[in-house]
Amino acid sequence: MNNSVNYDSASSISFLLKERQLSMSKRFGQNFLISPSARKHIIAALDLDSMQTGGIVWEIGPGIGAMTFMLLNMAIKTTAFEIDHGFCTLLKDMFGGNDLFSLVEGDFFKTWEIRYREFEQPARIMGNLPYNVGTIMIAALLEAQCLPRRMVFTLQKEVAQRITAIPGTKSYSAFSLLCSIDYSVEHLADLKPGNFYPRPDVVSSIVVFEKRDQPLVCEEYRSMFIEIARDLFRTRRKTIKNNLLHGKSLSHLERKEIERILAESGVPENERGENLTLSQIYRIARNAGKKLTG
Ligand code: SAM
Repeated sequence: MNNSVNYDSASSISFLLKERQLSMSKRFGQNFLISPSARKHIIAALDLDSMQTGGIVWEIGPGIGAMTFMLLNMAIKTTAFEIDHGFCTLLKDMFGGNDLFSLVEGDFFKTWEIRYREFEQPARIMGNLPYNVGTIMIAALLEAQCLPRRMVFTLQKEVAQRITAIPGTKSYSAFSLLCSIDYSVEHLADLKPGNFYPRPDVVSSIVVFEKRDQPLVCEEYRSMFIEIARDLFRTRRKTIKNNLLHGKSLSHLERKEIERILAESGVPENERGENLTLSQIYRIARNAGKKLTG
């Protein structure tokens, strides 16, 4: 593989970009991970040794290929999703001759599902995700039930805190609940701005998603659970009853029916969403689901 760039060096990357007449785009949240130890940490967290032979790793936002290079060097079949056309040209020049490498050019939001439904199911997903859309990328995968055994992401620390948050904390949200249906999530490490080029304004964190043997929510009530969780957090200072009364999930039910669902679920109606555990919300979703299916 012809690859002379030193991924640990800001000046080497800057030289490469200049040579190829590529510019960095703030819009795409481009910050390269220049710390070799952080990259090794992420690769180790993917637990590739336990992956079946021929298993595919998806990399979201490979940039100029620092992590891609490592995966291919380990003879791992890698599919990379990159939106930046200039980076795509570079990636093709660097790795195009390697049969293990596939590039999906374009916006991940528009490309990933076709790749998933029509071509391949990844055994792992990883990415140093663009700050502005990282959460939405993870939510898209989880909601569509693209659920590989392990996923490892680098995200803004604040977002990582929302993923791993527990009830009763400021970061706990509908997104925390969505993440924990199918995965146990772990905050692996923080990465200070100096680990990236250019330096971002915020601290980042590596988060590991390890698939549960059994999801915490059954298939039948899964979408009801997700919708109710969203409603419960829509206005944080409102009680759960008020949020449900003005939310979307139970909009076709009368006030009395919503009160009954909460009572049957054993959840006080003047409680706040941020204090409810996953199993309490699951009880509400199951009781609401039963009411709807009659
Ligand atoms: N993986 C590289 C690294 O760690 O050095 C670059 C990470 S950089 C934070 C995010 C990458 O995601 C950039 O290469 C950017 O162009 C790409 N990206 C941003 N939005 C994207 C999207 N919607 N679809 C695919 N790639 C995207």
